[in-house]
Amino acid sequence: MKNFFILLAMKLLYLALKILGKNGGNFLGKIAYDWNPNIFQYFKINCPIIAVTATNGKTMTNNAIGHVFKIAGKKVISNIEGNNMETGILSTILKHCTLTGKVRADFVVFEVDESYVPVIFKDLRLDTLVILNFFRDQLDRNGEVETLILRLHTFLKNYTGNLVLNNDDPNVARLGQSNPQNPNVYYFSVEAYDYATHEMKEAGEGKFCPFCNTRIEYEYYQYSHIGKFQCPNCNYGNNEIYKLATNINLKNRTFSILDDTYQIQTSSIYTIYNFVAVISCVSLYSIQTEIIQKALSNFSLNNGRLEELTINNIPTILNLAKNPTGANVSLRILNEDEAKKELLFVLNDNLADGLDVSWIWDINFDELNNITRIITAGKRAYDMAIRIKTAGYPINNIQSYLDLRSSSRNSLSNQCQKIRHCKLYCFTTN
Ligand SMILES: [Zn+2]
Repeated sequence: MKNFFILLAMKLLYLALKILGKNGGNFLGKIAYDWNPNIFQYFKINCPIIAVTATNGKTMTNNAIGHVFKIAGKKVISNIEGNNMETGILSTILKHCTLTGKVRADFVVFEVDESYVPVIFKDLRLDTLVILNFFRDQLDRNGEVETLILRLHTFLKNYTGNLVLNNDDPNVARLGQSNPQNPNVYYFSVEAYDYATHEMKEAGEGKFCPFCNTRIEYEYYQYSHIGKFQCPNCNYGNNEIYKLATNINLKNRTFSILDDTYQIQTSSIYTIYNFVAVISCVSLYSIQTEIIQKALSNFSLNNGRLEELTINNIPTILNLAKNPTGANVSLRILNEDEAKKELLFVLNDNLADGLDVSWIWDINFDELNNITRIITAGKRAYDMAIRIKTAGYPINNIQSYLDLRSSSRNSLSNQCQKIRHCKLYCFTTN
C-alpha cells in the first residue's frame, strides 16, 4: 500500500512538473528512493531489461540500442538523457509505469553507472548486460578501477542473463568468467584499424593477467589499453568471438561484420566499439541485419558527444570528455585529421564531474598534428595551458581565458577565419 501511495504522489508531482514545462531529471526518483529504498521490488516489468555500463560510451551505446529497436517498430523505454544512477533509473520507471507498478513496453534499455549495476539489479531482473570498457575515471567518486570491477564480479557470480563483453578490454573480458555456469556470455572484438599501434600510446589499465598475474601480450592496441591481447601463460583473452568488426574505414565511416557492411555517422575507432556492442546486443533479440544497418546509418547523438556542426562556416567537432581516455580519444580523432585545426579546450572543476583535475596530466599531448593554435578556457584554463605547454607545444600559440564566452569569440573569429579549411575542435569537461 505504501508503494501505491508513493507512486500516486510521484505521478501527481510529475504532472505538476510537466505543467511547469519541466522534465524533472532524477528528482522523482530521489524522493521515491528516500521514501522506500526497496521500491524497485514493486515494479512489474514484463519485457527484457537491457543495461549498458562502462566508463566511456554508455550514452551513445544505450541510445543506439534503443534507436535500433524503435526502427524495428518496438516500444522502448530508456533513460536517454543519461540519468544513470539509481535515482535516475527510478525516475525513468516512475514516469512510465502504472499506479500498480506495471511497465508496458517491448524493451527497457538503461545506461547504468558502473557502481550502480549491483544496486539497481538486485531487485530488477536483468536480461542483458553490455559492458564496454573500464578506465580510470573521476577517482574522487568511483575509487579505483579494480574495486569497481570486483564489485561487478561479485554481482555477476549469480547472474545467468546475457552478458555482452568487449573482448579487447582485459578489464572487461575477465568478467566473462565470473559465473562459469552462465552459458550466455558473448564477446565482441574489432580488427586493427589504420592507426592501431604495437605499443600503448596512452595511459591504460590491465597490463597483467587477472588470473595468473603474467604480463599480458598485445597483438595491437587500438587506443589506451583497448586492443587484441592474450595472456601467454594461461591463454586468457582467447575467447570465441560472437561479433568481430573488420574492414574498419574511418574515412568512409564504414565497417563490416562477416559480409554485412555498416555505415555510421562518426569517424572514431572508439565509436566503432560502441556500435559493435549495439549489434551484438540487438542480434540476441533477432533484429534483422537490414534494420540494424538502416538504424545505425542515421543514428547521431547531437548532445555534444562527437557532435559535428558548422559555426560561422567553420566545420566544428564538439566532444565532452571526463577522463584521460575520453580526452585521448578526442585527440586521436583530431590527429588523424590532416587538415589545419584549432583546438578549444574547456576545463572546469564543477561538482558534477569532479573537483580533481589532476587527470589532465594523463592526456597525451605529445604528438599534435597540424594544430595552429590552442585556446584553453574555463575555471581551470591556466592548469590546462600549463599541461599543454609542458608537453612541448609552443607557448606563443596558446591563449587562455577564464571566461568561456570571450574564448569562443576569439577562436571563431580572427585567425581561424583567415586559414582556409581550418577546422575547430572543441573539447569540454563539463
Ligand atoms: Zn594468465
